[in-house]
Amino acid sequence: MPLPLPPIAPPLLAWYDTHKRTLPWRGAQDPYKIWVSEIMLQQTRVAAVIPYYHRWMEALPDVAALSAVEEDQLMKLWEGLGYYSRARNLQKAAKVIMDDFGGLFPRTYETLLTLPGVGDYTAGAVASIAFHQPVPAVDGNVLRIAARLSALRDDVMDPAVRKRVRAMICAVLPPERPGAFNQALMDLGATVCLPHGAPLCAQCPLSELCAARADGTAEELPVRKKKPPRRVEELTVYLILSQNRVALRRREAGGLLGGLWEFPHVPGTLDEAEAGAPLAAWGLRPIDWQRRMTAKHIFTHVEWRMTGYFVEVQGTGEGLTFAEKGELARYAIPSAFGKFLGEIEAKLGIRS
Ligand code: SF4
Repeated sequence: MPLPLPPIAPPLLAWYDTHKRTLPWRGAQDPYKIWVSEIMLQQTRVAAVIPYYHRWMEALPDVAALSAVEEDQLMKLWEGLGYYSRARNLQKAAKVIMDDFGGLFPRTYETLLTLPGVGDYTAGAVASIAFHQPVPAVDGNVLRIAARLSALRDDVMDPAVRKRVRAMICAVLPPERPGAFNQALMDLGATVCLPHGAPLCAQCPLSELCAARADGTAEELPVRKKKPPRRVEELTVYLILSQNRVALRRREAGGLLGGLWEFPHVPGTLDEAEAGAPLAAWGLRPIDWQRRMTAKHIFTHVEWRMTGYFVEVQGTGEGLTFAEKGELARYAIPSAFGKFLGEIEAKLGIRS
């Protein structure tokens, strides 16, 4: 059985008051800014998020602007952050706030949880930081810190264990400074109680209270059961050019990368002899096969191994859209195709 958490709030808050990170969404306690930043930070590092965050806030400074933005612009603002359903859910939630809450951000953890794309962690972060509600915000950082502090050896991927950790955090959360406490845990997890390699226990304000430090097991914790291996999908991708225009195709709504633009592709790895058949099916005639290159992209559950063919064609292309060279940047093309896109842009002289 893990130990309950020791009284961590006083040393943690004292440390936070002098060591907290300066981040663009901190300070004003604007729920919109906190919400957008927390959604962007899921799966993405702080340093990578900051430029996206600034660009987003310039284009969409409030809930009303987000609710009204065109899908293509929304996707463009999100392009590169991955997991596009998060951007769509942000807009869905903004519409709910405009339609059902009169444009006012919901103020409680329970109401925030009803918004599309808002889970336990995000609701806790917004409610505690913007509205001072005494609720925890338990993410991977907090699970790790709690597991180490209490020498918890159960699998933190197990929902029942997560529920227990949440209760442990609730028991030590100071009602007078819930937002600062949650942000202090975020900062401690990001800068001291690090996930990979040895945590920096000598710099930790909680070192005297930490069970894992006392018994030398910090690096073994938290325990996570291994995930099943990723599925591998092979694709043959066509980088089709016709008079300086590039063939694109829109993915079906829903599912992986739904609604975004992509280079046409077919399943499997086709060799040079086989690669012409799909072009014929699209009503295209190859006039110059130029080069072949490979790329790979890893999603959470699947890995794409892609073989790309650059080919100049004649024909109209059934089901395809030919983007003019000067308009290519307007199409939201997922980063999975980034290597190919870079080559196409270089070839067309859009960038060197
Ligand atoms: Fe993490 Fe070390 Fe601090 Fe324990 S003492 S909470 S393991 S950094």
